[in-house]
Amino acid sequence: MTELATPPTEQEQDVKRISHWIGGRTVEGESGRSGPVYNPALGRQTGAVDFAAAEEVDRAVQAAKQAFPAWRATSLSKKSAILFRVRQLVFEHKDDIARILTAEHGKVFTDAQGEVARGLEVIEYCCGIPELLKGGFSEQASTGIDVYSIRQPLGVVGGITPFNFPAMVPMWMWAPAISSGNTFVLKPSEKDPSASNFVAELLTEAGVPDGVFNVVHGDKVAVDALLEHPDVEAISFVGSTPIARYVYETATQTGKRCQALGGAKNHMIVLPDADIDMAADAAVSAAYGSAGERCMAVSAVVTVGDVADRLIEAIQARLPNVKVGDGTDPASEMGPLITREHREKVVSYLDSGREQGATVVADGRETTPEGDGFFLGVSLLDNVTPEMDAYKDEIFGPVLVVTRVDTYDEAVKLVNENPYGNGTAIFTRDGGVARQFQFEVQAGMVGINVPIPVPVAYYSFGGWKNSLFGDTHIYGPEGIEFYTRGKVVTSRWPDPATSKVDLGFPQTH
Ligand code: NAD
Repeated sequence: MTELATPPTEQEQDVKRISHWIGGRTVEGESGRSGPVYNPALGRQTGAVDFAAAEEVDRAVQAAKQAFPAWRATSLSKKSAILFRVRQLVFEHKDDIARILTAEHGKVFTDAQGEVARGLEVIEYCCGIPELLKGGFSEQASTGIDVYSIRQPLGVVGGITPFNFPAMVPMWMWAPAISSGNTFVLKPSEKDPSASNFVAELLTEAGVPDGVFNVVHGDKVAVDALLEHPDVEAISFVGSTPIARYVYETATQTGKRCQALGGAKNHMIVLPDADIDMAADAAVSAAYGSAGERCMAVSAVVTVGDVADRLIEAIQARLPNVKVGDGTDPASEMGPLITREHREKVVSYLDSGREQGATVVADGRETTPEGDGFFLGVSLLDNVTPEMDAYKDEIFGPVLVVTRVDTYDEAVKLVNENPYGNGTAIFTRDGGVARQFQFEVQAGMVGINVPIPVPVAYYSFGGWKNSLFGDTHIYGPEGIEFYTRGKVVTSRWPDPATSKVDLGFPQTH
């Protein structure tokens, strides 16, 4: 593979260098390529992250391959004890991790703490790995014959993660992967890479052997090297739909197991009997939290019948109170977007919405804080129809669109016809309608009067349709299933009383 050398600019020479973590130590990149890391609230470059060449990815895979036999042979009780120590260290350093997230992603500190807390829950679930890997045993399946099932790790597995949850999404992957005996190579988002290196040091401190957890930074070159590497057995991916599809197709073509979670357009249906204040609070929280950069953000509210005017009025009344600012300021509730380019793209939906006939109830440009940060105030578009770009695309910013329909059936049809199927929610007081919704809606995660129904760690997370390529959801029981494969053993011990020559096909007796 040809490498284009991009020598660091003068500005890059002043900023923190972020390198790979291979075999239990920091390894400086040698490809000559790197990417800028920003503090989005300041709009200033603060870091330069090394971009791995295929050879460096190979080094990480070889470190993981070498560590695999001993790690897989490590007893369950020892693995569990190490996981408990990992849990303790992540818990003790949760604010340090959250500070890194705020500095590179921009989300407000309390939101960053929430991200770490939800990741910790997945680690805690994996501390119970001896229980999770218990197989079945059938004594005397046939006379003198027992049958039992076991689950074994795959080997070296890779994880490729998005910018919007730089700590939690990697935890969704590495915690079930390494607790079940695999060794892991993580390729985090190049936009906010530092949390992964910090966590890598904690894992080493907790006693995770060198090579069990590795981090390579980079872009498509590193991703492709992982996807094509013959020693990588499985790939977990979380990111946008076009890349998820590409990763799934490429990984499976080379015979790898793959789960690839993609983008979303999450609809929240509000029925006329809903509690308006509760629905308005939920819509504002779920649409603008983390500046709308969540795959479970509510990005489209669907109002049914005469609830529309009442709900929009209630949402609009809340907007001036949303405090937009630097995530390190305790007063801030919403931080900036990840990059200047992404902010420009989000803004373009306000213009296209207006041109295509939507009503701009709130234009975030008018409430954007001053300064160089990549901020955008909260925006609300009403009378949005399914043909408009603001409805069709995953905006991934603080823009909430409202679509008005007359009936519940029309609302469900909108959700079911959408190409994405990650999360969805209904707000109503009618248990019968809510149950009907849960029965017929085509999405992987459903909230009933709950706007962001991210499953707890002992269920699994995943969408339908273009929100997930692959068969298993991530973390929880399906996460353990993804990172292990089954084996069934049929056994008999010498017993002279039952031994004889029998050329017939084995039958139970
Ligand atoms: P992205 O797809 O741009 O990047 C994700 C990862 O893929 C990164 O590590 C990146 O380096 C890599 N990548 C980017 N372009 C690539 C290419 N051409 N070839 C190979 N690899 C490439 O996503 P993002 O912007 O970092 O994250 C936001 C997206 O992730 C949104 O669409 C959001 O909905 C989605 N997301 C989904 C979930 C979920 O659980 N379904 C969770 C979080 C985020």
